[in-house]
Amino acid sequence: MRVVLLGPPGAGKGTQAQIIAGKLGVPAISTGDIFRANVSGRTELGQQAKTYMDAGDLVPDEITVAMVRDRLAEPDAEVGFLLDGFPRTIAQAEQLRESLAELGTGLDRVLELVVEEEELVRRLSGRRMLVDGKMVQREDDKPETVRHRLEVHREQTAPLSDFYEAEGLLVTIGAVGSVEEVTARAMAALGRA
Ligand code: ADP
Repeated sequence: MRVVLLGPPGAGKGTQAQIIAGKLGVPAISTGDIFRANVSGRTELGQQAKTYMDAGDLVPDEITVAMVRDRLAEPDAEVGFLLDGFPRTIAQAEQLRESLAELGTGLDRVLELVVEEEELVRRLSGRRMLVDGKMVQREDDKPETVRHRLEVHREQTAPLSDFYEAEGLLVTIGAVGSVEEVTARAMAALGRA
């Protein structure tokens, strides 16, 4: 199954992506995680991406699209994939359609997680991650940057719902509730309950 997970920052995409991908037996591919791994590994790609990420801006499409195209061509993605954090712009969605067509395939479903904005700000500002044994705040989870990321999402990524609705691929679920409840709704929406 080839699935895209959509939703604003803080909707719980990363958590749900891991669980749902496990249930579907496909790799979860997160562009945010790939970028963060490259930043910690101090690679060339990481250096290119870091300034944009810290500011809460999107990394330019030239960098992101090529990275995803390479990742989707890896053998483990032949059985399918769950994309988390990509596409984030209409241009990226069009590129994705092209990359998949080159591989002779296409998306099966686009699952959107919906959470109201007040709740997103609350979740993101309180979020901490474990790095080298310490709980730290992600640079882009600082309150001003959170507001900017939500704005970027509203302007650049939210239009993807209509784009995929028009393709007949979109399913939407509410993402408030326990992790298990949201997973159950997601699996039902994917027709795998
Ligand atoms: P969140 O969903 O919590 O905003 P992610 O981990 O998906 O966070 O992404 C973190 C940052 O990585 C984004 O703010 C952006 O700078 C960069 N990024 C991730 N995916 C993309 C993408 N598809 N296009 C451009 N930039 C991206």
